[in-house]
Amino acid sequence: MYRKLIKTVIKYHVQNKTLVSIKLDVKTILRKFITCMVAKTPISIMIEPACFCNLKCPLCTTPHKYMTRKQGMMEYETYRKFLNDVKDFAFIFTFNFAGEPFLNPNLFKMVKAASEYNIFTLILTNATLIEENRRIQEILDSQLNVLVVDIDHIDPLLFSQFRKGANFESTIKQIKKLCDAKKEQKRFFPLIVAEVIVSRENEDQLQDIYDLAMNKIGVDGVWFKNICFPLHSKGFREEHDVSELVEKYLPKRSKKKRYNYVNGNLELINRSVKCGWRYKSLVLWDGRLGACCYDYDGVYTFGNVNEQHFLDIWNSKNYRYYREKLIKFKKLELCEKCSTE
Ligand code: SF4
Repeated sequence: MYRKLIKTVIKYHVQNKTLVSIKLDVKTILRKFITCMVAKTPISIMIEPACFCNLKCPLCTTPHKYMTRKQGMMEYETYRKFLNDVKDFAFIFTFNFAGEPFLNPNLFKMVKAASEYNIFTLILTNATLIEENRRIQEILDSQLNVLVVDIDHIDPLLFSQFRKGANFESTIKQIKKLCDAKKEQKRFFPLIVAEVIVSRENEDQLQDIYDLAMNKIGVDGVWFKNICFPLHSKGFREEHDVSELVEKYLPKRSKKKRYNYVNGNLELINRSVKCGWRYKSLVLWDGRLGACCYDYDGVYTFGNVNEQHFLDIWNSKNYRYYREKLIKFKKLELCEKCSTE
């Protein structure tokens, strides 16, 4: 799947001669890579620009309805302090976690600051606020590398039910406007990728969604993703019946699925023994470091970048113990309900 996505993107940009706009500082990237291998610094860091959302998607993996953690928005000063701590070794920043990143007015200032240190940046967004809160030019000038936008349906009604609070026409229009502006200015970055969550509702329309995204909107690639039920949330589990979720959302015909439903239970199809979060870190909006993207309530947190250097927290006895003994082997209480494959 990734190979096909990368091939499509490269082919398009070779044809349009936009590949020439990439400038890579190979020396810095190599130095960072060596630091990462030798000093065991994190390969990728997820940053939470905002811990709230403008939509109420029924299957959100960070369900705000049941969240007990205080919600808020990352201050630019917190981000700057953290960036200063990690700029010499950080490789990849993903701006996203328990909220819609575009709600933070400093989002593209953050991206631009990261790109000055050769940090590869990604944003995952519901794409409903591209025009309202941002100027398209600001996105293009930020040197953002990848923008992942949600396009799960071609049926406006199903779209607005799955992305509750979003309007199909308006969302598509905004993504298209950004794609058009990018083409007009012959930019390679950001790569705009449509993310499609495959469910029983759309499994027969995947080709149509692909055509809409690639040919009508003009994104660089389409990424089909397995549906995930937020069963790690106690509140969600208490309010939802698994058999109803299966009946409504679990694909029947598509091979693109995360679980099998056996004897009333959901079983992960590809369950690995180890978890990749031992190599990654998460900065919550208030500056605390979190264990992983399933811990939306911040049960397992370590230090605060407002008060300590990032590396002092990363290398602290407590955080190392969690990473090397618990997270690595999926031994947190949370891991039992986690659906990472
Ligand atoms: S396996 Fe555990 S540590 Fe890894 S993502 Fe899932 S809940 Fe987090």
